[in-house]
Amino acid sequence: RKGVRDSFYLEGNIRISGDRIKVPIFGWLRCAELLPATTPKNVVISLRAGHWYISFKYEAPAPQVEKTGEVVGVDLGIHHLATCSDGEVFENPKPYRKARKRLARLQRRLSRKQKGSANRKKAVVQLGKAHKRVADIRQDNLHKLTTYLAKKYRVVVIEGLQVKNLLKNRKLAGALSDCGFYEFRRQLEYKARLYGCQVVVADRFYPSSQLCSGCGHRQKMPLQERVFCCPCCGLELDRDLNAALNLLRWYRTTPSSGGSDACGDSSGGV
Ligand SMILES: [Zn+2]
Repeated sequence: RKGVRDSFYLEGNIRISGDRIKVPIFGWLRCAELLPATTPKNVVISLRAGHWYISFKYEAPAPQVEKTGEVVGVDLGIHHLATCSDGEVFENPKPYRKARKRLARLQRRLSRKQKGSANRKKAVVQLGKAHKRVADIRQDNLHKLTTYLAKKYRVVVIEGLQVKNLLKNRKLAGALSDCGFYEFRRQLEYKARLYGCQVVVADRFYPSSQLCSGCGHRQKMPLQERVFCCPCCGLELDRDLNAALNLLRWYRTTPSSGGSDACGDSSGGV
């Protein structure tokens, strides 16, 4: 049915090679992307904001990757996409910010259109496309980040978010759902299985942003404060890097995390 979850399932004589795909009824179709040569038993074809997508499963050899990093703490943020405990920072790219601005503009424009008008319909289509672009860029970024982490490190330590507290703060809730914490975790976990990496989620009550990564002193850290200044040991550190370092420290000092000295292995290898 048109307009109701525009997707359908096909099975039978399906062939995929290069940028072409042969499906029953339609015959050969051209694809935008190069595909692996295979003959899947079935495919799902779907429509999203004016573009058609095909998805299918096929067997691929398990990838072999060489780990160059041991353990890393990763803090997801609003200002940066992610900050790693070894100092690496992942930004939201320019196209993403541009697309978000455009989305906001289109949203305002739509609200001024008269209900039921042709112009309103046009604006709705435009808005749908802008939404898709923002979502696509975000998804692409997250995929790059999670693939990188799962391939490089043996252990990735992330924070366990308290959903209740987050939703209390509406501004933060919006920003975080935007950064896609749950999507980040979902991707990281399945890629970790693929690339032989372990994802460790810190205790969700662990205040990674409030502790000093140097001496353990705890203080309130309002969101607008970008630098952690410790009155006890004098440490001054970017807020996100400090949080990432704390996640690493939590992993190394908490027996239940599997990475602490208490287990007799300080290397963090699990
Ligand atoms: Zn300190």
